Amino acid sequence: AKRMRLDKLLANMGFGTRSEMRRAVKQGRVTVDGKTAKDFGMTLDPEAAAVRFDDEVVVYRETIYVMLNKPQGVVSATEDARDRTVIDLLDPEDRVLQPFPVGRLDKDTEGLLLLTNDGKLAHDLLSPRKHVPKTYVALVHGDVDGGDQQAFKQGVKLDDDYETLPAELIVGEKEQREDGVFSRVTLTIHEGKFHQVKRMFEAVGKKVLYLKRVSMGPLALDPKLKLGDYRPLTESELDALL
Ligand code: URA
Repeated sequence: AKRMRLDKLLANMGFGTRSEMRRAVKQGRVTVDGKTAKDFGMTLDPEAAAVRFDDEVVVYRETIYVMLNKPQGVVSATEDARDRTVIDLLDPEDRVLQPFPVGRLDKDTEGLLLLTNDGKLAHDLLSPRKHVPKTYVALVHGDVDGGDQQAFKQGVKLDDDYETLPAELIVGEKEQREDGVFSRVTLTIHEGKFHQVKRMFEAVGKKVLYLKRVSMGPLALDPKLKLGDYRPLTESELDALL
């Protein structure tokens, strides 16, 4: 089986950060196969070794963290009676680890979706108190202008009377077509209400025709990922996230 560093194993299983785990090992709080561990950099087979942290058995579970470039037409769920799900896009060997999407994108929204089986990370990223920023690019039917920018900066009232938190709107190129003006925009929001971006534009009388998420917290969509493709997070992406 794969070998793994002790400090990494403990951090991955949620006992704390890697530096906290190094300290804990130095303090003699960790045992491996009944003996106090001395070296936090020791490697072991996480499926075979008996590890305890403050006498608590460390149960090993393989973790998975991937970023997916979600295409339109698939739903952000683990199961669905009618539609294909983002889980169906994964290879079988990744699916057995039972990842789930962290938050949701609409069926017709594309872009960055994080999938993991790390419930704590998912919980932290989705916590309404954390205000994790999410950036979207959109094509909007209508002439998006400085007034909309101001409105989004102040907060707008959605159709259920919810007042949105301040959001940053950048207006890009505009296109005149037979059926009106279309605006390319970038919007960063710090919360995640149901259909939030679409409903914010509805609140100013405009319609989102195309929506793609390009970042979430410290994670940016890898431009090399084609729609429907995914890749594991890198060490530095994980460090930024955990
Ligand atoms: N806002 C929306 O309206 N839809 C999404 O999928 C994400 C944010």
